Amino acid sequence: MSISIPVLMYHSVNDELRDSRDVSVKTFESHNKYIAEHGYTSLTAMALYKALKGETPMPAKPVVITFDDGFRDNYTNAFPILKRYHVKAVYFVVSSRSGDDEPDFISWEEMREMEKTGIIDIESHTHRHRKDNLEIIGRGGEEEIFEDLTLARKMIGEKLGKECRFLAWPQGHYNAKMLKIAEEAGYYSTFITENGPNISLQDGKIRRFKVKERSVFWLRVRLFLYGNSFLASVYAKMKKIGF
Ligand SMILES: [Zn+2]
Repeated sequence: MSISIPVLMYHSVNDELRDSRDVSVKTFESHNKYIAEHGYTSLTAMALYKALKGETPMPAKPVVITFDDGFRDNYTNAFPILKRYHVKAVYFVVSSRSGDDEPDFISWEEMREMEKTGIIDIESHTHRHRKDNLEIIGRGGEEEIFEDLTLARKMIGEKLGKECRFLAWPQGHYNAKMLKIAEEAGYYSTFITENGPNISLQDGKIRRFKVKERSVFWLRVRLFLYGNSFLASVYAKMKKIGF
């Protein structure tokens, strides 16, 4: 049985818990404490990519923490905790909406500050966060998708002085054509919202599981399941049929 890399998907860390995807500050802290104290190695997107490609040795207990959407609480609530426990995380931001114009989101200055610490890796959640990408593709809008993905890479590159190579699809919507377009736009791999093992980069997709307002025990079980290639595929199949 080979190692699979568990990839966690968070959205927002706040104590109002308005959305089912929100996690409270206390819970997020307990998750970080568990990860830090149990010998896990948290990876950036590039480190994950290289480990899956076999370019670097696989750490003993790898884990990847991701956040979608770039909400400002990722800076005010999550970042201080990640920093305290030295847990790295990947923030997928929507490059057309930053805190410079919209206060609910992280500003470019805050992103620069976080990137500098080496704790936070800023990557692309597309430029406009179109929720109808599948329909756009359906009516032959390949060029539109390509432009959006390219613009996101360009903006992140210019604002943060880095090469952005990873993408998380809005709503987790994608198809084979879109994967091809992402590759043409310069992305090395794309993060999806389906469960499953991450053993190699065969299909270029990184599978993630959603983290909710759940206990450390809940997280511990998932890290165990998604950390093992066999258990991760069995568990993902069970979930698919409604267990
Ligand atoms: Zn999103």
